[in-house]
Amino acid sequence: MDSEQSHDLHIFFLPFMAHSHTIPLIDMAKLFASRGIRVSVITTPVNAPGLSKSIERSRLLGHEIEILIVKFPCMEAGLPEGCELLDLVHSLEMGRIFIEATTMLVQPIERLLEEYRPNCLVADGFFPWSTEVASKYGIPRIVFNGTCFFSVCASQCVRLYQPYKKVSSDTDPFVIPNIPSEIKLTRKQLPDFIKQETGLAEFFRKVEEAEVNSYGVLFNSFYELEPAYADHFRKVWGAKAWHIGPILLCNNNFEDKSNRGKEASIDENECLKWLDSKKPNSVVYICFGTVSNFPDSQLLEIAMALEDSGQQFIWAVRKNKNNQQENVVWLPEGFEERMEGKGLIIRGWAPQLSILEHEAVGGFVTHCGWNSTLEAICAGVPMVTWPVFADQFYNEKLVTQVLRIGVAVGAQKWAIGVGDSVKKEAIKKAVTYLMASEEAEEMRCRAKKLGEMGRKAVEEGGSSHSDFNALIEELRSKGM
Ligand code: UDP
Repeated sequence: MDSEQSHDLHIFFLPFMAHSHTIPLIDMAKLFASRGIRVSVITTPVNAPGLSKSIERSRLLGHEIEILIVKFPCMEAGLPEGCELLDLVHSLEMGRIFIEATTMLVQPIERLLEEYRPNCLVADGFFPWSTEVASKYGIPRIVFNGTCFFSVCASQCVRLYQPYKKVSSDTDPFVIPNIPSEIKLTRKQLPDFIKQETGLAEFFRKVEEAEVNSYGVLFNSFYELEPAYADHFRKVWGAKAWHIGPILLCNNNFEDKSNRGKEASIDENECLKWLDSKKPNSVVYICFGTVSNFPDSQLLEIAMALEDSGQQFIWAVRKNKNNQQENVVWLPEGFEERMEGKGLIIRGWAPQLSILEHEAVGGFVTHCGWNSTLEAICAGVPMVTWPVFADQFYNEKLVTQVLRIGVAVGAQKWAIGVGDSVKKEAIKKAVTYLMASEEAEEMRCRAKKLGEMGRKAVEEGGSSHSDFNALIEELRSKGM
């Protein structure tokens, strides 16, 4: 795309206030800006500093990208001052209030639309009201839903055909009807809000309705990764969709990668130096994203499994008051001394992208958040899948059964932030399989091929590059 051709377009990006939603949407905003489109990212005072480094780098390259700030109504909604990020929410009730607070952003965003008159609003799926807001100003709202085609198709069919009602227990498997592969799940692995009427059920209904009524959906995926599902989504649901990923590949230098999300809790260079001292594919990386918080007892099972497996590891541990249990230790006595040189614990934020891309890393124990999954695919790293909640049980099936680049640890229960409890024997077995079996070597080869396909997809002439151009052409030709 000739950058001068598209300078006439101005697009607003509205990321949901949670790291795992903001990271890909900021990458996306930077991608649009790098193709000569004028971009404004709307965020709130607490979130703005975290984004500014990344945006500033893009501006230094001459891209037309800016941050617009709207006040987050903490006080009005009854949230503590500064609670402008989902990661700071510590209970379901607080989560409900947080979502409610985001609906109060309508007016300030309308004021910005009035003032700037952009051509299009790309808003996170968690802002269902943004479809109506955009239509009030005669512009399209495009949804960014943050997951893959596979999980959208599978979850839509589960909601529509309700196969979970036809099994007699929570642990009896059912087949998801009307999708391209035979995928089995159990009732226990489904979200509560699918099975019963809760506040969240209503919220997700609104999300879906707004998606149907929106102009289309942007996917952080690429056609070659899940062709049957990319086709299925468009044909069966009749929805407009553009696959423009893996968007993370727009970060092609150290600074861009380091500026994604939070500042690392470890010196990134030290971490990479540690990895430099290891043989290729000899380290397993363990991280469960930005929301899941395992109790101390579960962390202890992981620590014991890692030690028993004999594998070298980097383990990113999220700890806050939610997972502290009285009289429970989360590390066996003397663990860190024994693991000296063999394992690295990162307490807090890990520089995940750089870790996964390091040749010493040969496996990833992941909760299957879509960002983490795609990052592993791009790095050609096979996975131990340990889904916890959200879309993660669907993503697990894509990884283990469709792409065959992962092995399941055996998590059986969908539960917000905590998931199932998994014993050390199962963890050790899966980690050992991932790091030391012939089958895992085959998975690694498949993952590497997919990573290469992902890189080709975003290059000139690749499927994602072409879909991106098609979207921009469409917006321009309609005079949007
Ligand atoms: N992430 C990171 N360091 C951490 C934890 C997470 O860089 O210590 C990043 C990770 O690379 C990914 C995002 O945060 O881009 C997590 O998103 P994902 O969709 O995988 O999971 P969620 O946080 O939604 O559960």
